[in-house]
Amino acid sequence: MRLSPRHPRYRSLLVRERLAEALRAGVVVPEGLIAHGRGETFDYLLGERSLPSARRAERVAARWLLEAQHPVVSVNGNVGALAAREIARLARAVPGLSVEVNLFHRTGRRAELIGERLRRAGVRNVLGVRPTARIPGLPSDRARVDRRGIYVADVCLVPLEDGDRTEALRALGKRVISIDLNPLSRTSRMADLPIVDELTRALTHIANDAARGRRPRRRPGLTPFDAGGALREALQEIDRRLLRAGRARGR
Ligand code: ATP
Repeated sequence: MRLSPRHPRYRSLLVRERLAEALRAGVVVPEGLIAHGRGETFDYLLGERSLPSARRAERVAARWLLEAQHPVVSVNGNVGALAAREIARLARAVPGLSVEVNLFHRTGRRAELIGERLRRAGVRNVLGVRPTARIPGLPSDRARVDRRGIYVADVCLVPLEDGDRTEALRALGKRVISIDLNPLSRTSRMADLPIVDELTRALTHIANDAARGRRPRRRPGLTPFDAGGALREALQEIDRRLLRAGRARGR
């Protein structure tokens, strides 16, 4: 389909088109399209821009990745389809960051395809295509991980995650940074550092912040972050926007 850049929802249509293409290529599963729809809804409600509270979270996320001993970013089908380039940029900005494919609906072929997209985008070392370990407490394929990646990670960046795995990662003592537009999702509520922002915007900001930031001196612990406050600010913004829209309709 030819999309006109003048269409008011050009960017959203482009992203949908890219996901549909990735579905046909076997990178994305139909469930991924539904998850994307949920994300779009919340982006709409948040005004399709990064809130100041999200920017603050992204700056701290960059620090956490630089402060970590073994930082890892987990890549699923939607992330591989929509943000392979941004993941590659992040890997360049954070020395020592592992990039690991991790899938709920895993087949060897899908994992290979996502690994291939990441490599083409410039990621040198892609983990998780052939899992070598298992994290306890999870019945799904997401438990299958790489011994050099998520298995030993102390800080996990998990874009577009589900609540069960966030919980399992936290139960293992890992610190979880989530990227999820839904401030009400279990993932956002479980994460140590929830970023309520769109995937590509969030990854770009974190990569820029990390590239600008100097590698911090090793200190025990990570920069403090008020997760509850960040979620409250996102919800208050939705509240404000809905009230404003309701008032405008009432006039
Ligand atoms: P939970 O188990 O955490 O309650 P869920 O059941 O909503 O979450 P999924 O169906 O795996 O989990 O959905 C993934 C999440 O990713 C959704 O909450 C959706 O808002 C979010 N999401 C989808 N696309 C994007 C995107 N492009 N950027 C940011 N967030 C997104």
